[in-house]
Amino acid sequence: MRYISTRGQSPAESFCDILLGGLAPDGGLYLPEAYPQVSKETLARWRGLSYADLAYEVLSLYITDIPAADLKALVHKTYTPQVYAYARKPEAAKDIVPLTELESGLALLELSNGPTLAFKDMAMQLLGNLFEYVLDKRGETINILGATSGDTGSAAEYAMRGKHNVKVFMLSPDGKMSAFQRAQMYSLQDANIYNIAVRGMFDDAQDIVKAASNDAAYKAKYKIGAVNSINWARVAAQIVYYFKGYFEATKSNEEQVAYCVPSGNFGNICAGHIARQMGLPIAKLVLATNENDVLDEFFKTGVYRPRKTAETSVTSSPSMDISKASNFERFVFDLVGRNAAVVRELWAKVDAGGAFDLRGTPHWERLPGFAFVSGRSTHADRLATIRTTWEKYGQMIDTHTADGLKVALEYRQPGQSMVVLETAQAVKFSETIREALGRDPVRPVALEGIEKLPQRVEVMDADATAIKDFVARHC
Ligand SMILES: *Cc1c(COP(=O)(O)O)cnc(C)c1O
Repeated sequence: MRYISTRGQSPAESFCDILLGGLAPDGGLYLPEAYPQVSKETLARWRGLSYADLAYEVLSLYITDIPAADLKALVHKTYTPQVYAYARKPEAAKDIVPLTELESGLALLELSNGPTLAFKDMAMQLLGNLFEYVLDKRGETINILGATSGDTGSAAEYAMRGKHNVKVFMLSPDGKMSAFQRAQMYSLQDANIYNIAVRGMFDDAQDIVKAASNDAAYKAKYKIGAVNSINWARVAAQIVYYFKGYFEATKSNEEQVAYCVPSGNFGNICAGHIARQMGLPIAKLVLATNENDVLDEFFKTGVYRPRKTAETSVTSSPSMDISKASNFERFVFDLVGRNAAVVRELWAKVDAGGAFDLRGTPHWERLPGFAFVSGRSTHADRLATIRTTWEKYGQMIDTHTADGLKVALEYRQPGQSMVVLETAQAVKFSETIREALGRDPVRPVALEGIEKLPQRVEVMDADATAIKDFVARHC
């Protein structure tokens, strides 16, 4: 399998060659040159597999430059119940992504049972093992530099902790994360993990990461890398649970399911789109946004208009607070018939701070074939959905999953199962849970009292030079 750029001006590469990088040299995103097709016979054979065996089958279609036995070992080491230990029902941890039925034809697919209680662990844990394997083989090292306001940074740290040849330098806004989030990240004592709390806001931290990444000499000298959401391996790992969820939610491969995906950077639902392109019987992909509704606007009107920073609001489903969706270009590449010249034209507008409008074009007429629909949810919707789900089904859901469930209910159809992806656990957003339910969420026993553990964090001014020096000294 070779990977091509959505902008069409970079050479095709193999999986391991794009694993450690970010954007393609031409500024595009990598996608497989064609989506492998899954026949009815294959689907029937996969139905009975464990998560790890299924992950191996799916990923081996995309990763053809790691020997089969090695890939199998990496996948089995990643998808074990010890890593995904925080299932609603402890006995379901062996399923890795248990399905919780709310009522007939409506279910949650639990993707947030990993160490940081958010779905990003599903892909990031595999990435940690793949990075270590490829770096060992090549005798190389990498220093991951990132900025986080919560979910992504902690998932990256828990994936990379203790890995050979990898160090993580994670910048976070000092004092701006919840005590639980701080404890999750700063209590890690692994020597290869460096937490830097920056005196400032998240944007200040991100600007410093950008400054370091734009300094080509510095980046090369100190082998600076990233693990952001455009990484192809993360998308690939996420394809697996669309298959697993389908098998859990249906009895035969004649049935179809609809998936609803709480979305921000379009990484999660992009994997659903690819699963459907491979032949998985997905009737609908329902995209849910919060108040930051740039994607809902696109699917309703054909206009993609990334927002200015000032137009982006801080909401109670913060991991969906985006101004533009960094993986969206992958979908648009498929929508425009994989014509890279068209993508270049559209993103010339986006990259110049503008928008594009597909209404009235042949591209827009193809959209129904991709089975996407969308909706948005607000703080009031979130509170109401958390409350109803608790009262009606006795299940506590987090704010992002609530956005998904709210929108999913607008698109349910008789005779079709609706599966809502559960992207985080309620305990991470206890303030909103208290507002909705007047009580605290239950916390997994293993995470009781983590706020009291000793913390390892360097507090620094938002000074790019000083932080670049700190990284250089320690990497
Ligand atoms: C990252 C995240 C999302 C959004 O996922 P994308 O892949 O960026 O669309 C939704 N919910 C939670 C809890 C997340 O951490």
